Amino acid sequence: MSTRFQLFVQPPSSDPGARPEVVTVSSPAGSVAPGPADHRMYVVEPIGKEKPFGRVRGPFGTPYVYLPPWGGAARAPAMPDAEGHFDHLAPGMPGFEAAHLFGAVRFTLDVWERYLGGPFHWHFAGHIERLEISLLHHWDNAQYGFGFLETGSQFEDDGTVQPFSLNFDVVAHEIGHAIIYSLIGVPDPRTELPEYLGFQESAADCVSIIAAMHFPSVLREVLEATRGNLYQFNRLARISEYSRTRQMRLANNSLTMARFARGWDDEHDLAQPLTGAVFDILVDIFHESLVAGGAISPAVEDLADRAENDPELRPVLQAEFDRAYERDPAGFLTALEDARDLTGVFLADSFKRMEANYLDYDDLGNALLAIDMEENDGAFSRLIRRNFERRLIGTVDAGPRLKAPDKRSHTRSARTVLPDDQDALPGMSYRERYLLARSGR
Ligand SMILES: [Zn+2]
Repeated sequence: MSTRFQLFVQPPSSDPGARPEVVTVSSPAGSVAPGPADHRMYVVEPIGKEKPFGRVRGPFGTPYVYLPPWGGAARAPAMPDAEGHFDHLAPGMPGFEAAHLFGAVRFTLDVWERYLGGPFHWHFAGHIERLEISLLHHWDNAQYGFGFLETGSQFEDDGTVQPFSLNFDVVAHEIGHAIIYSLIGVPDPRTELPEYLGFQESAADCVSIIAAMHFPSVLREVLEATRGNLYQFNRLARISEYSRTRQMRLANNSLTMARFARGWDDEHDLAQPLTGAVFDILVDIFHESLVAGGAISPAVEDLADRAENDPELRPVLQAEFDRAYERDPAGFLTALEDARDLTGVFLADSFKRMEANYLDYDDLGNALLAIDMEENDGAFSRLIRRNFERRLIGTVDAGPRLKAPDKRSHTRSARTVLPDDQDALPGMSYRERYLLARSGR
C-alpha cells in the first residue's frame, strides 16, 4: 500500500479558500521515515541557516562553495502516523510544510518516472548521496542545485508571506530542472547556446503542467471551465513559478522566436515560444483523440485549427465544444488523459536523446519527430512540425543575452555550482573557517 499526503493542488496564495487534497504516492506505507525521508531524499527545516546553498561568502568575505548537508540545528521532523502515512498533518500544524514539500516532490517523481520507464539518478549522485530538501522561510526564492532543493517564501506587497513549499507548481518545476540536469546535463560554457537556458525553463514548466494534470480535480476543473476548448485561459495554461501577479506566464501564448532574435534578458521569457509549441502539440493530440473517440467530428477539429488564426470563428467553435462536451464528458476526460500521457512519454523520450552541448529548441522538435517515426508511424509528424514552424523554431535563433542575469536566473549561479569549483577559489584563513564551522555551515 502506498503513502498518503495532503497536497494543495492550487496554492493557498492564489485561492485563500483552497483546501489540500489527500493523494497517495508510490512509496510503500511505512517506508517513509520521519522528516519525511527515504533512501533518495530527506526534508530538513534548518534553524539558523542564513543563506541558500551555492557560491557564498564566509564571515570575512572569502567566497566558497556551500553545499549540503546542513550541519546545524533543525526543527523536529514531520512524523508519520502509526501506519506510515502523513495525511494526518494538516495546514497550520507543525510538520505540515515539510510533509507537503516531500509529498509534492514524490508525486512529481512518480508521474515522470512512469514516463521515463523508471527512476533516474540525481545529477549529483556519486558526490552526494541523497537530495536535501530544505525549508528556508526568510528567503524569497526556490532553487534546485547540486544536492539540494530549497524553498523560501513569496513576500507579497500586502505583507502576506506564502511559502513556496505549499505551491505544487513551483516544487514540480524545480523537479523539472532536476530531470533535465540528470538526463541532459549542463553544457560546456563554450558550447552553450542561449536556447539551452530557455529550454531548461520551458522543460521545467512542461514537467510541472503535466504533473499537475494528474490531480483528477485539475482535469475536471479544466474541462468544466472550458468545455474542452483548451485555448481558453484556464488552470492548465497558467503556471505560477513565482507570484501569480508578477511572474505569471502562459503556456498558451502566441510568442514566436522573432521576439528574441535580436536578444533577450530573461530565460523565462525566452522559454515561452517553446512552452507554447509543446502546449499546442498537447492540444492538437487532444483533438485527434477526441475525433478518434467520436467525441467531436473531424469538421470541428478543422474549425479549431482555423480558429487559432481567426478570432471571429471562436464563438462558433465554443458553441460546438459546448454541445459536444454536454454529450460526452467522459470521452473528453479520456481524450485529455490520453493527450497528457502521450505528450509526457514523447517529452521523456526526447529528454533521454538530447545533448546539452549546442542544444537549441529545434533539437526537441527533431527528437519528437524521430520518436514519432520510430514508435508511432509518423502519426503526429504533421502536427509536431506545424507547431514548431509556427513558432519560427528552427528558422530563427535566439540572439544574445542583453542583460546580466539577475537572481531569478536559475540556470547559472547556485544551480550549477560544483564541488570542484572550490579549487578555483581563494583559501580561507584558519579563523574564518573556525567561525564558519561554529555557525553550523
Ligand atoms: Zn526554473
